[in-house]
Amino acid sequence: MALMTAEQYIESLRKLGTRVYMFGEKIDNWVDHPIIRPSINCLAMTYELAQQEEYKDLMTATSNLTGHTVNRFTHLHQGPDDLIKKVKMQRLLGQKTASCFQRCVGMDAFNAVYSTSFEIDEKYGTSYHENFKNFLIEMQEADYTVDGAMTDPKGDRSKAPHQQEDADLFVHVVEQREDGIVVCGAKAHQTGAVNSHWHLIMPTQSMGENDKDWALSFACPSDAEGVYMIYGRQSCDTRKMEEGSIDVGNKKFGGQEALVVFDHVFIPSKYVFMNGEYEFANMLVERFAGYHRQSYGGCKVGVGDVLIGAAALAAEYNGAEKASHIKDKLIEMTHLNETLYCCGIACSAEGWKTKAGNYQIDLLLANVCKQNVTRFPYEIARLAEDIAGGLMVTMPAESDFDSETVVGRNGETIGQICDKFFAANPAIPTENRQRVMRFIENMCLGSSAVGYRTESLHGAGSPQAQRIMIQRQGNIQGKKQLAKDITGIED
Ligand code: SF4
Ligand code: FE
Repeated sequence: MALMTAEQYIESLRKLGTRVYMFGEKIDNWVDHPIIRPSINCLAMTYELAQQEEYKDLMTATSNLTGHTVNRFTHLHQGPDDLIKKVKMQRLLGQKTASCFQRCVGMDAFNAVYSTSFEIDEKYGTSYHENFKNFLIEMQEADYTVDGAMTDPKGDRSKAPHQQEDADLFVHVVEQREDGIVVCGAKAHQTGAVNSHWHLIMPTQSMGENDKDWALSFACPSDAEGVYMIYGRQSCDTRKMEEGSIDVGNKKFGGQEALVVFDHVFIPSKYVFMNGEYEFANMLVERFAGYHRQSYGGCKVGVGDVLIGAAALAAEYNGAEKASHIKDKLIEMTHLNETLYCCGIACSAEGWKTKAGNYQIDLLLANVCKQNVTRFPYEIARLAEDIAGGLMVTMPAESDFDSETVVGRNGETIGQICDKFFAANPAIPTENRQRVMRFIENMCLGSSAVGYRTESLHGAGSPQAQRIMIQRQGNIQGKKQLAKDITGIED
C-alpha cells in the first residue's frame, strides 16, 4: 500500500474499535472530540509532510526489508545519515506543530526491538527477530502509527516487578499458551496511544531472574480484546472545548498521553519478541531510551524555534524589540536551542552498526543531549515569559474582547475597552498581541507545556536516568589513565 495521506490516516482511526475513556466516560466519537482532535491533527502532519515533494528526502526512506518507499517513522536506520535525517525531520515537525507529534516512540521502539531481538535469537535460537521483521513489514506497508510503549506504572519504586504487591504494576504474562501468551498490566504516560493503530510493548527497566514473567516484548492492535485507554489531562485542556480560536493558544495542534490497560489480552506467538529473556531487558531499555533521547535533540528544538519566534513577535508587538536586553535574551534562547540541536546531530553522526545491521546512536552523547533537554527548554520558556510580560497570564478572555456589553460612560463596550487598554505598538492590531500572548502561555504553561516543559524533564527518562548512563558511558578509568600517562604516574 502507498503512503497514507493525512486524511486517510484520520479516516483509518475511525475504523478502529479503540476504547477511549475521558472524564469518567467512554468517548465513542473520539476522533472528532475537541480535546483529542488537535493531537490527531498533529500526528497527521507526519503523513501530510511525507506527501510533499520538498520534504520527501527527510520524511521518507527506502525500507531495507522490502525496498519500498516508507514513511521515515517506520524505517530502520541504515547509517548515520538516516539518524541525522531523523533529527532534522523531528525539528521540522516541531516547527510545523509547536507540539509533540507522537509518532517517534514507535520509530524508536522499532529500531531498538529490531536489534535486541536479533541478539536474543543469537543466544537462544528463538525466532523473535523473524517475528519482528514480519510485524514491521506489516506496519511499513500499511503506513501505521505505532505506540512504542515502555513505561509501566511501577508501583513501589523500591521494589522489583516480582516484589510488587500487585503484579499488574508491570506488564506481565499470566498464561503461556501453545499459540501465544496472555498478558495483564498497563503502560502509563503513553504518547499518542489513542492515535496509534498498534502498540509495541517493551520492558521498562533491567530485570532479574525472578522477573522473567515481566521481561516481555510484543505487539498488539489498539482495539485488541481487553485493551482500553484512559485519556491524560493537560493544563487548560478544557479551553479546547470553548468557542473562539485565541484563548486555546494553539487551536490546531497538541500532544497526547494516555494510560493503556491490558486486561488479559491474548497475543499470538508471531507478535511476541521477548518472553522471559530477562537479561536482555536492559539492552532493550538502553537502546530505546537512547534513541528517544536523541529524538529530543530534534523535536524540542523545533518547538523551541516556534517559541523563540513567538517571543520575538511579542517584543515587536509590545514595542520593545529594539531594547538591547531583548535582543540579548533572543540570542541566549537561540544559543540554548541550537546547543540541543548540536547534541542531537552529534549523537547521530557518531552512530554505530548493531549486530542486526541497523544503526544505534552514540549512547553517551544521546544522554548528554537529553540531560540538556531537562534544563534548556525551562530557561528558554523563562526567557519567553520574561520578554512577553505578565499580560500572557492576566489578559481577559477572548469573549471579553468580543463582547458588545456596554460598560463605558460614553457607551463603550467591554470589547472596545479591552482593545483600547491592551493596545501597544500602534502598528499592530490588539488581536495579534492577544494571539501571541496566549500562544506563549500555551507553550509555557498550558497544554503544550506538557510537551515542551514537563516532558522535556521526564520524557525518555527523568534526569537521573541520564546521569546513570553518563556515569556508565563516561569512561572515567580511561580518563584517569590519560592523566597518568602525561604525568608519568605508574601503578
Ligand atoms: Fe516525538 Fe518529541 Fe513527542 Fe517524543 S516528545 S514523541 S520525540 S515529538
Ligand atoms: Fe516523548
